[in-house]
Amino acid sequence: MAQHQVEYLNSGGLPIALTSVDKLVQWGRSNSVWALSYGLACCAIEMMAAGGSRYDFDRFGTIFRASPRHSDVMIIAGTLTKKHAEFTRRLYDQMAEPKWVISMGSCANTGGMFNTYSTVQGVDRIIPVDIYLPGCAPRPETLQYALMLLQKKIRRQGANRKQALKRLV
Ligand code: SF4
Repeated sequence: MAQHQVEYLNSGGLPIALTSVDKLVQWGRSNSVWALSYGLACCAIEMMAAGGSRYDFDRFGTIFRASPRHSDVMIIAGTLTKKHAEFTRRLYDQMAEPKWVISMGSCANTGGMFNTYSTVQGVDRIIPVDIYLPGCAPRPETLQYALMLLQKKIRRQGANRKQALKRLV
């Protein structure tokens, strides 16, 4: 980001090169959102279906990865227990920036029906969440829509960054 900023400030106020690079970066980034395979409970079955040939998330550039180091988005699919919360946070910390989180299903959003001593009452208590999917369990189409919303958000974040740089000049 700092590198773009310097290019912009040295260009005499003409953001032409920055605009093109930013658009290209955001376009590429929004079309290659790799997801961490991270199913925690029954919602994960719908997430797995989403990765299969019927819904074919690959066509959006979303490929499920087994390592947080390769992943851009963490889809929390299922019930998060307090015992597991520490590992979830660690995996999130291991993902490189920029990164996003989708909370899939009532259990991940609020603890759902498991209002118990052992369940985290919403994953946003331990990591920031970008998109919440309602349902028990949400269908793959819902997850597909969430990914499309995330793509829009990623493209908008690029635009917002340009606005922020303009304000600096
Ligand atoms: Fe299972 Fe429903 Fe909870 Fe999803 S929201 S993990 S389907 S109980």
